[in-house]
Amino acid sequence: MLTCDQYHMPTTLPEALALWRAAPEGSRLVAGATDILPWAREGRAGHVHLPAMIDLSRIGELSGYAIADGRVRLGANVVYQQFLTDDTLRAHLPCMPFCSIWFADDQIREQATLAGNVVNASPAADGTPPVLALNGDIEIAGLDGDTVVRRSLAVADFLKGPGKTDLRPGEIVTALTCDSLEGYGGSFQKVGQRRSLVISSVCAVACIKTDPAGEVFEDVRLALGGIGPVPVRLTDIEDMLKGQRITRELIAEASSIPVTRVASRTRQDYRRTVVRGFVEAAIDDALADTGAPVPVPREREKSHV
Ligand SMILES: Cc1cc2nc3c(=O)[nH]c(=O)nc-3n(C[C@H](O)[C@H](O)[C@H](O)COP(=O)(O)OP(=O)(O)OC[C@H]3O[C@@H](n4cnc5c(N)ncnc54)[C@H](O)[C@@H]3O)c2cc1C
Repeated sequence: MLTCDQYHMPTTLPEALALWRAAPEGSRLVAGATDILPWAREGRAGHVHLPAMIDLSRIGELSGYAIADGRVRLGANVVYQQFLTDDTLRAHLPCMPFCSIWFADDQIREQATLAGNVVNASPAADGTPPVLALNGDIEIAGLDGDTVVRRSLAVADFLKGPGKTDLRPGEIVTALTCDSLEGYGGSFQKVGQRRSLVISSVCAVACIKTDPAGEVFEDVRLALGGIGPVPVRLTDIEDMLKGQRITRELIAEASSIPVTRVASRTRQDYRRTVVRGFVEAAIDDALADTGAPVPVPREREKSHV
């Protein structure tokens, strides 16, 4: 059971930051609360009593998104369901609908924020590899006296290890900013212990742009989750593919490279096998999403979005 002495619902960022700064030790921020509630459920963390909870879900500044200068700024309260239902987000962040359809279920997707997923810093978080592939930055606010001060850094630098981030005491994440990849094809692969409502063992994301004829890789974005302490971007493999003619041999060669990067402490052989197949599948599916012909198409189970 989760209980607390005080449950705050601020409506502005300065109010939330002041509450957070003054909150007694052991207090928690919550957005969708989909990580906190299972953590606090009896049997995992036992009975949890918090001095204060600060619910960020009513803060207007943290909701919605804006697109400018080739970047999409997602307020920290943007939830997974929006990547499925909002046509503009689907067009600008083409991997996110595929990530979202594999994420939890309808109810959780309506609550779970992408920012909360990133802050939670699970090695298996589904949302983090796409954010890395989209050159994601994280925007953070804190208080200096009564003044709101802001900073921004790459999500790749924000993540320090399992459950560890660069977030400092008193700070709140306000947004994630990602490249707009309109015109790219996207895909997301995921495997876990069961078919649905599953946390990933391994996940892979791809975003691909081809030349107008669909014969050459113009741009490639690739990232993997679940293979080590933090999700990783595969920039060397992206560079190997960019500017090259699209062939089955090239895709197969590129897909074999990240196999050596599996650094998880458990099920290494299984993960290596999965990684090779997933990078290849991610590239194939993203190519198919562009409408380009996929060399020697593969027969695989597909998610439909
Ligand atoms: C049934 C179920 C299925 C799930 N399936 C998946 C899945 O398929 N894939 C997956 O990756 N995860 C899954 N999860 C985990 C969870 O839903 C995600 O991690 C979710 O994105 C967390 O977002 P939230 O808004 O609910 O975070 P919360 O639970 O509210 O918070 C998570 C952490 O982030 C912090 N936080 C949240 N917002 C901010 C902010 N703006 N600034 C600073 N700190 C903040 C909180 O303090 C807390 O430490 C599942 C959970 C459940 C219960």
